[in-house]
Amino acid sequence: MSFIKRLNQKASKSSGWKHWPGLIEAYRELLPVSTNTPIITLQEGGTPLIPVKTISNLIGKGVSVYVKYDGLNPTGSFKDRGMTMAISKAKEEGCEAVICASTGNTSASAAAYARRGGMRAYVLIPDGYVAQGKLAQALVYGAEVLAIKGNFDKALDIVQEISKNYPVTLVNSVNPYRIEGQKTAAFEIIDALGDAPEWLCIPMGNAGNITAYWKGFEEYKNLGKSQTLPRMMGFQAEGSAPLIYNKIIENPETIATAIRIGNPVNKINALNAKTKSKGSFLAVTDEEIIKAYKLLGDQEGIFCEPASAASIAGLLKRKEEVPKNANIVCVLTGNGLKDPDCAINNNDASFHSNLDPSLKTVAKKMGF
Ligand SMILES: *Cc1c(COP(=O)(O)O)cnc(C)c1O
Repeated sequence: MSFIKRLNQKASKSSGWKHWPGLIEAYRELLPVSTNTPIITLQEGGTPLIPVKTISNLIGKGVSVYVKYDGLNPTGSFKDRGMTMAISKAKEEGCEAVICASTGNTSASAAAYARRGGMRAYVLIPDGYVAQGKLAQALVYGAEVLAIKGNFDKALDIVQEISKNYPVTLVNSVNPYRIEGQKTAAFEIIDALGDAPEWLCIPMGNAGNITAYWKGFEEYKNLGKSQTLPRMMGFQAEGSAPLIYNKIIENPETIATAIRIGNPVNKINALNAKTKSKGSFLAVTDEEIIKAYKLLGDQEGIFCEPASAASIAGLLKRKEEVPKNANIVCVLTGNGLKDPDCAINNNDASFHSNLDPSLKTVAKKMGF
């Protein structure tokens, strides 16, 4: 019997509390795995769905807003959901090396899972545009980092060609197993709420995640596990919004580096999710993103990446259209610790430095 099964048996005898086994075990029958698939897991998924009162109050109308805090995955982003699947399937197929292009989080996740599965991990990143925490992770997880003088879109072109010509498996979100793993976030939301929310608000970069969520919502509904489908509300950063302006952006720019993508590979799937769900896409400015980012931090105790805050910024921008008494879920895709520079440069904290180490000085600074 597996360690986790034994733990669960023990737990259910005492408190009823169960140990989360990782998303492949949790949703095995809804994923393309068999008994022959070696499961490479860090027990990802099972992330909290947290009510955010401040945001609900800003919207009013009896609305309940929740955040799906996927920054609490093992490497700090939702990419782990797709990576446990992609790497497990790569291992099953006998692959020895994987490759990806990344704005940072995919490389961290690919490296962690590939190394755990005994594979090499090659990661192509845009030189100078990856947040510190993400770069640190790729290095510590033993990736072979190739920083190119070009943006994410260029890096993705190169890795697609390399995986066609050399024995390395591509683990970007064109890999269908990534989408399969990521769809489990929609299952978890329905498992928590009892049905789909009215709106799902989500940041879009390469648009794999919105594709995956929509797939998950549709599958659960078809299985009778939910009665409704959400409207898919996607958001991009103003300087990097190919899906809103319906054109390739040659030089995307935004503080939200995780969604700094000008030519999303999952464009068709994202547009399909929008149409089928009667959803809508909108751009938010970097100022709006930072405002939402600070609000989540200092009012809700939730520290996310700037890219993740785009979902909250977008919801607030759409405030007037929100239906009364709706349940709304905003996806927080990554952990704030990934990008300490952004945090240190964008906050309203009071920071008194260079103080005399005396009770009097400290008490005075405290306002006593
Ligand atoms: C990858 C990523 C996104 C964008 O997801 P896509 O699937 O590329 O649309 C958003 N936020 C964070 C933190 C990410 O790592």
